[in-house]
Amino acid sequence: MIQAMLTIDDIPSKNTRSITDYLTENGIRAILFAVGEKAEQDPDSCAYAIQHGMIVGNHSYSHPHFSDLSVEEGIREIEKCEAVLDRVYEMAGTKRVFRPFRFPYGDKGGKNKEALQTYLRENRFSKVKDTQIPYSWWHENGLDQDIDTLWTFDFAEYNIRPGSGFTLTDVWNRIRDMDPRSGGALLAPEGRHILLLHAHDETDELVPGYYRLFLDELQKKKVEFVKPAFL
Ligand SMILES: [Zn+2]
Repeated sequence: MIQAMLTIDDIPSKNTRSITDYLTENGIRAILFAVGEKAEQDPDSCAYAIQHGMIVGNHSYSHPHFSDLSVEEGIREIEKCEAVLDRVYEMAGTKRVFRPFRFPYGDKGGKNKEALQTYLRENRFSKVKDTQIPYSWWHENGLDQDIDTLWTFDFAEYNIRPGSGFTLTDVWNRIRDMDPRSGGALLAPEGRHILLLHAHDETDELVPGYYRLFLDELQKKKVEFVKPAFL
């Protein structure tokens, strides 16, 4: 059996509601990571996801590369987004129980990595339950110790852009790759995954309903979507 917890980055977007509807129809609970400045402009889409049982997590305020920032600037990015999300949860009428955080680009801050992890730990951010992840690289790289939410499989569909040379076929190849250079093989038996998708309207324009396409296929392959859980 393959189990996967789904995460979707960069909400809100125009397709946040349709993604939420798809997940709801399919009984999938996910963590949707919100960019604070976008959530400030469109709190309704975030509140909609929350009201439909999704967890909305912190993806920083302005989506910078954290290794370009000082520790103080990084913390300010996180705290500004926290304040927006507190308001969004209040708007949704839902108590905010979990506070997962994801670094934009998975950039953990370079030389400031330890200071930022300490900040996340001391400020009670929620660490996703990753004890079931079997990959040796997850443990060897100390990812099991980090508080932020990384992923084990990236669909990389955000690379589908005019002129990028990366196409829908490349996404399918990644999904079927049994020996990937990075991450875990998605469809390998007994796989345990944290999946990364993005809520990007640009992708939806090029491949309408792309999330439906990929997630339908995974359900056909008997991937079980597990509810986000935290340590
Ligand atoms: Zn992002």
